[in-house]
Amino acid sequence: NRSAPLTSQQVVDITRQHNYGTWRFQKGWNPMHIMDAEGCYIVDGAGKRYLDFSSQLMCSNLGHKNQAVIDAIARQAQELSYAMPGYATTARAELSQLLLEVLPKGISKFFFTTSGTEANEAAFKIARMYTGKTKIIARYRSYHGSTAGSIAATGDPRRWAMEPGGKGPGILFAPEVHCYKCPIKHTYPGCGIACADYIEHMIRNESDVAAVLVEPIVGTNGVIVPPEEYMPKLRRICDEYGVLLIADEVMTGWGRTGEWFAMNHWGVVPDILVTAKGITSAYVPLGLCATTEKIADFFQDHYFAHGHTYEAHPLTLAPAVATIHEMQRLGLVERARELAPYVEDKLKELKAKHPSIGDVRGKGLFWAVDLVKDRTTKEPFNTYSDKVSGKPLLVDQIAAKILADGVTIQAWVSHFVIAPPLIVTKEQIDFGISVLDKHLAIADAALGA
Ligand code: PLP
Repeated sequence: NRSAPLTSQQVVDITRQHNYGTWRFQKGWNPMHIMDAEGCYIVDGAGKRYLDFSSQLMCSNLGHKNQAVIDAIARQAQELSYAMPGYATTARAELSQLLLEVLPKGISKFFFTTSGTEANEAAFKIARMYTGKTKIIARYRSYHGSTAGSIAATGDPRRWAMEPGGKGPGILFAPEVHCYKCPIKHTYPGCGIACADYIEHMIRNESDVAAVLVEPIVGTNGVIVPPEEYMPKLRRICDEYGVLLIADEVMTGWGRTGEWFAMNHWGVVPDILVTAKGITSAYVPLGLCATTEKIADFFQDHYFAHGHTYEAHPLTLAPAVATIHEMQRLGLVERARELAPYVEDKLKELKAKHPSIGDVRGKGLFWAVDLVKDRTTKEPFNTYSDKVSGKPLLVDQIAAKILADGVTIQAWVSHFVIAPPLIVTKEQIDFGISVLDKHLAIADAALGA
């Protein structure tokens, strides 16, 4: 017996009055009421449909309302809605078997969480327990989560708000790999991957390094694809110094880049792989911290000092099983790979047309459109400092126009992330890009302003 349904306006008003809007000033938050969603579309309170051009937060990889996943949730709720982590469950065993099929070979021991953030926290603790060392080398222009450890390891400025309380212990930052705007002013090719050499230099000159932590393709901070040589070189460096390599595949996993996991592009197996988001296509909250057998063996005789009430919660695991089956049935990893050149060509056309686009880059169905004031200096229209000082961002202004024309797109500081559900059609891609095309006129007009 539900009380009278709330109007759409009530839903919005109650939400903003009693909930925190994330990563923003609370004033001015006017969340859209999502009433429904299906396939590549979401529907607002007035019944208007929007193409979900960034899969919400780059996570609804299967698209919305996949019946097999919905059925799996319902079945699991009927069968067993909770068991504490000390028990074995059918969903846990089935998912573990499937993970062995899709994860990079050699990754075979699993710890389940309810977010990517917590999966990273687990990875840091496991790396520290296993190596007996403390320091983790992360990179600037990265995001690894919002809790104490993972925000401390986040290189992007979202970390700044936590720093007055003291820098996170044991975290060091290296320059990111970013050939479009190399932080150490080298030019690829011909640089010898100096940014990886820099990490080696850090390891040599620091005591106590447990791990190097990377997003294989940097996500929110601009879909930054490393050159081919980078990841194999990092693997060699880590092996040489006995340092673990942690791949944060929270955003890049699950077919997003045209491989089950982005590390597969370079044939590199990390020691610890962290993922979340697409693992259930975000139907329920699930994260995973997965390790090699070698690390697993260590804990046979060493105390595994970690756990959560909701670890391996059966309601989160059953939909992951269904998600993997659906991805296999629909061939979505292959689909992302096949559609990549189509998206790339379209975005290159867009770049040729709009002088405000500095760079387009990506892999699979994971792309960034990077806006700059000036193609020579590559200066962005806005910086994170503008965001936290409340200055309106050009990308937000453009995203609002794009939304009014029926497309939701992820805008971040001075770029857009294009990452539609992997079931997207060419026609839907055309539509999303045509709407972006139309409103990039705003950025072109702002050039030199
Ligand atoms: N790591 C990466 C690479 C991410 O993109 C995110 C979220 O966007 C996280 C970690 C944190 O995941 P969650 O938001 O599920 O805690």
